Amino acid sequence: MVSVVELKNRYSFSIIGGGVIGCSVAYHLSEELGEEVVLLERDFIASGSSGLSAGILSQQLWNEIDIGLVKKSIDWIKKVSEEEEGFGIHQDGLLKLVCTEMEVELLKRNVDLQNSVGCDVRYLEPDEVEETAPEIAVSDVVGATYCPDDSYVDPYQLCIQFAKRAEANGVRFLQKSQVNEVEMKNGGPFRLRTTQDVLESDVAILCTGPWSKKVGKMLGVDLPLKPYRTQVAITTPFMGDAVIPMVHDVTNSFYMKPETGGTVLAGNGTEDTESDPDDFKERAGFDFMTSISEKMLGRLPRSEKASLVRGWAGLCTATPDRRPLIGFHSEAKALFLAVGMNALGVMRAPAIGEIVSDLILERKTQSDFQEFDPNRFGEVEDFEIVQGFTL
Ligand SMILES: Cc1cc2nc3c(=O)[nH]c(=O)nc-3n(C[C@H](O)[C@H](O)[C@H](O)COP(=O)(O)OP(=O)(O)OC[C@H]3O[C@@H](n4cnc5c(N)ncnc54)[C@H](O)[C@@H]3O)c2cc1C
Repeated sequence: MVSVVELKNRYSFSIIGGGVIGCSVAYHLSEELGEEVVLLERDFIASGSSGLSAGILSQQLWNEIDIGLVKKSIDWIKKVSEEEEGFGIHQDGLLKLVCTEMEVELLKRNVDLQNSVGCDVRYLEPDEVEETAPEIAVSDVVGATYCPDDSYVDPYQLCIQFAKRAEANGVRFLQKSQVNEVEMKNGGPFRLRTTQDVLESDVAILCTGPWSKKVGKMLGVDLPLKPYRTQVAITTPFMGDAVIPMVHDVTNSFYMKPETGGTVLAGNGTEDTESDPDDFKERAGFDFMTSISEKMLGRLPRSEKASLVRGWAGLCTATPDRRPLIGFHSEAKALFLAVGMNALGVMRAPAIGEIVSDLILERKTQSDFQEFDPNRFGEVEDFEIVQGFTL
């Protein structure tokens, strides 16, 4: 006889969105709450921004809190990669280059900050850059920093690692389950109608990345978020035995990183206009492909032998001050936000999952994470998009 397992439709916590943030939150909550958690994903795990990301994990940031979050996240990913066959972290280091004196001042200020929180980041003169990365052309470079611990990871695999662990702890993952309608009385609990089901939950945790402003509207809240488009492209194999670290050329506003089989991924093309997550150009544009290959050629002369084979675009989500929104919403009191990750969502995901579960389980309070308080802006008319991965 075939046994029928009845699936429950009431949960304490529903996570909306199965990107790197939703999956990390699921894992961290599952350690205490397991079967009390359901994750609802519109399409499939990592099908949004996370799966399109370059997977760079860099501690060379401009503020103490984010540097600490990335450091913690790298440690978590390193530990998992030691435990899991087939899941690896690539610790090739990242070189940050600048071509103006003004940027050198900012780099030096950041190095002091990064060193003060225990990160191994070194300031390099151009001739030292040549020693560290002989393949990189430095004739116009005025100063640089290098962090040997900066790493990269396959962002899809990272999501799967979180999801696998969360599922083993009892979290139910429902893919192809877009939340289309939400009923919420007095700020919660919630009745969520998805493409497959109707579920109830006491608390809803919004992890919908670039869709968050739209989903927020469905929940009756106006969130200060703007999704913006950014592009990457990948080359044919050309590196041979040559090795490069990841490179972020700040002045020329692009980055590149080694990929498997002697290829290189290069990206940026960040746009300062808002995009619609349900209607944006998913292919990289011709202008971007032309300019990124020129920039790459200037910095990595060996790329003369390469062609770009594929380019794509995805969305990051800006907030007015480049910091995320993490915490309960002041109007919809059972609505928890974990959104606005800008271009730093993958590199902070393990640490952000922990912050979310600490706040929800009241191990910490919002005052411990004041800078992420989602209610800090009040009413926002408009704001400028400033990308996160810069000085
Ligand atoms: C080209 C590119 C390169 C990048 N490179 C880096 C990098 O090197 N390092 C780094 O740290 N960050 C990088 N980023 C940024 C990073 O990808 C994001 O910050 C991060 O993926 C955000 O994760 P998320 O879980 O918040 O959003 P997402 O991954 O977009 O997840 C949101 C999920 O919500 C789902 N969803 C939406 N609406 C609904 C609904 N109504 N019901 C149910 N589910 C719904 C979506 O399908 C999606 O899967 C890059 C981004 C891009 C586009």
